[in-house]
Amino acid sequence: MDSAATLSTPPPLAELGREGPLALFLDFDGTLIDIADTPEGIIVPEDFAARLKALSDRLAGRVALVSGRAVANLEEHCGPLDIALAGSHGLSRFSAAHQRLGKKPRPLPESVFEAFTEFAAGTDFHLETKAYGAALHYRADPSLAERAEAFAGSLAMQHGLMVKRGKYVVELVPPGADKGLAVGAFMAEPPFAGACPVFVGDDVTDEDGFEAASELGGFGVLVGGRVSSAARYALADPAAVVAWLEL
Ligand SMILES: [Mg+2]
Repeated sequence: MDSAATLSTPPPLAELGREGPLALFLDFDGTLIDIADTPEGIIVPEDFAARLKALSDRLAGRVALVSGRAVANLEEHCGPLDIALAGSHGLSRFSAAHQRLGKKPRPLPESVFEAFTEFAAGTDFHLETKAYGAALHYRADPSLAERAEAFAGSLAMQHGLMVKRGKYVVELVPPGADKGLAVGAFMAEPPFAGACPVFVGDDVTDEDGFEAASELGGFGVLVGGRVSSAARYALADPAAVVAWLEL
């Protein structure tokens, strides 16, 4: 485990590509796009989807967004995305041709959303309900972390769900929501199979992606200054990622 401060920047993409085909797995928030006060407050450049498509074309389709957001939410912010996508922490996957890969996930029980709504009412928590998850954000008051953890933990136990922790957010998701599993599933099929996987991400949930990429002969690139990581390289912020990707 290394901190971002001790990791060097990755070699240029063109140099890495000379050693063999590359596959890129890219987190979204905090990796390609700056984090905002609320999940809906992000600013996405108008030509973002076109630039991602151009990157994917340069790598013969071997680029996937792997985000905690639902696919529909990604496209609300970016417009139609003609690249491979894994939304809901990898649970919901699509090919670049918009075909679903793997099984359609089941949404959380309605009673879980009701419990979250009740819990968050009149507090400084920002509740985010997703297609296959529910998240409590506490960026406005980081001291709420313990309350969020305790609440999500008890609901997870009751309903057989998993708790995902991120930067100022705790989220309840169905079992199997794991960015590493999404990398493995993409890498088992064309056009990704046989390439060297590179996972780029900023948050705790991206560590699964870093580990999967390493196990499959590639590596992780940590974005930002998180303390410990299974990544091999680091980049300072989304602007550095965009520059490195020549996006
Ligand atoms: Mg992120």
